[in-house]
Amino acid sequence: MSGRLVVLGLGPGAPGMLTPDATDALAQATDLVGYVTYLNRVAVRAGQVRHASDNRVELDRARLALGLAEQGRDVAVVSGGDPGVFAMASAMFEAIEVGPAAWRALDVTVLPGITAMLAAAARLGAPLGHDFCAISLSDNLKPWPVVLRRLTAAASAGFVIALYNARSRARPEQLGAALAELRGILASTTLVVFATAIGRPDESIEITTLAAADPALADMRTLVLIGSPETRLIARVGARPWLYTPRGVAA
Ligand code: SAH
Repeated sequence: MSGRLVVLGLGPGAPGMLTPDATDALAQATDLVGYVTYLNRVAVRAGQVRHASDNRVELDRARLALGLAEQGRDVAVVSGGDPGVFAMASAMFEAIEVGPAAWRALDVTVLPGITAMLAAAARLGAPLGHDFCAISLSDNLKPWPVVLRRLTAAASAGFVIALYNARSRARPEQLGAALAELRGILASTTLVVFATAIGRPDESIEITTLAAADPALADMRTLVLIGSPETRLIARVGARPWLYTPRGVAA
């Protein structure tokens, strides 16, 4: 008898941002599969087996989860944020596409989560109120020239840009190169936000401009938001300003 496979997102980290559907799936699972950092956010349950892995082995992790479901286990594959945004859901379908026919018959469900850009946007105000896009700055899975080409196109087209995977210890230089590229296209006053560890106890938010943006403000828990020409601040006394993008753009 074949089991069940749920690919779910834990949200950015705050317990209140975990959906009830994801909570139920976590409670029901016989096996949890995921990157160790994300599994550590899930309460330990007696009798539930944890298969923790390193961050870079998404396809192996997907195959492990599919094999367990095939054996009749009730498997929850855990991602941070949303599982379909630069995360495990795609890896799962990549594995199914080239895997044994039996995997296509499995009961697979994807449960959405609150992705980092939405959690960060809500903290700030409403920066994603008009057209926006999300780009991963990591060149682990695509060539760097493709990253730069997409970034340049998005900035030239006036999108607000959410940069995932902006900086890590293994890739310390790329965010600086990306910001340099953007300085050639966008005004120096363009608003830039470093939103780090949103929803966790060490959450921090830095609002700056493209001219002043310092890549050192980002680490692997940071979402970098690049404003559009319309994105603006509302100053407040004794509080962080609100940041928003109006609903419309002039002709
Ligand atoms: N599936 C995740 C994204 C995985 S890629 C999601 O939907 O959020 C990992 C990147 O997401 C990080 O490098 C960072 O850019 C961003 N990120 C994840 N959690 C975050 C958080 N709590 N605060 C800010 N950025 C976060």
